[in-house]
Amino acid sequence: MFYEPGDVRIEDVPEPVPGRGEVLVRIGSALTCGTDVKTFKRGHPTLIKEVPSPFGHEFGGTIEAVGEGVKDWRPGTRVVAANSAPCNRCYYCKVGDQSMCENLSFLNGAFAEYIAVPARIVEQNLYEIPEGVEYSRAALLEPLACAVHGIVRTPVAMGDTVAVIGAGQIGLMFVRLATERGARVVCVDKSSDRLAVARELGAEETVEVAEGVDAIEAVRGWSSEGRGADRVIEAVGQPELWEQALQMVRKGGDVTLFGGAPSGTTFEVDTELLHYSQITIRGIFHHTPYTVQVAFELLRSGRVDPEPFISGVRPLEDVVEALEQHGRQEGIKYEICPPDGGPS
Ligand SMILES: [Zn+2]
Ligand SMILES: [Zn+2]
Repeated sequence: MFYEPGDVRIEDVPEPVPGRGEVLVRIGSALTCGTDVKTFKRGHPTLIKEVPSPFGHEFGGTIEAVGEGVKDWRPGTRVVAANSAPCNRCYYCKVGDQSMCENLSFLNGAFAEYIAVPARIVEQNLYEIPEGVEYSRAALLEPLACAVHGIVRTPVAMGDTVAVIGAGQIGLMFVRLATERGARVVCVDKSSDRLAVARELGAEETVEVAEGVDAIEAVRGWSSEGRGADRVIEAVGQPELWEQALQMVRKGGDVTLFGGAPSGTTFEVDTELLHYSQITIRGIFHHTPYTVQVAFELLRSGRVDPEPFISGVRPLEDVVEALEQHGRQEGIKYEICPPDGGPS
């Protein structure tokens, strides 16, 4: 249970009872997510609205029971779900911006033994895990759907140069997806371990940020004729890095800001640069049922290999330690196992 930043407790709570349209899932594995780490450190404006709240949102498991009115799902089916689903009735849903849905409510409670999946998610964002795919690997569905959302809305074409700032889970997914689209990718991060994973996932070049290293110069130097990258994607969530992203992009290029920065922060944009260089800046948040579907197919078909993203396994009782480790950037993501090992 999440109480406040820095205060997450292991408690015995009643097993959830699936309501109308809901399914009760016995958790096989959960994953730590950068969003959980941020929430643990500083809270979250949209993810958690009331406390104490169940915590964790990436999981795979087996349906234990179904609520009244559920026809398409049966107990015993191995499933993975996204952590929200749009209402499809509000203005934003109608105009096709489902990640801006006014009625988006987030499912938390993956760091537990059981979770009740709300009807709206059951209808739109619940998938049967393909045979032979482990719960923890399937649980990559939600973050991958976010990265897919960033990529499908950024015009990355074959032969483009793409700079990805950040080699956490989402940055690494961007590296993989941009490479998959035929782009040449450079990845910028502070951690040499993470950059090694970026190279494994297809990055042609990496820039390790350290004292005396000018990341902007390094990216521009790598790009053709020093023009700057065609597209730059920020996947950390730091205003200084948003500013750097604008210095790395070529004239007429695109900057996608995916990392969520702390509430109340701002960043500066050179108006001359923005206008006379015709730079497009775009913020992208979360996922949509379409990008969840694409992410599911990428995992099912093996075109995105989940292995490099999962750095170790921890029992549920050590979830705080795992979040701290994730926060210290030791490894990429951690698998969290329920105490009884979960369903077989
Ligand atoms: Zn996540
Ligand atoms: Zn809506």
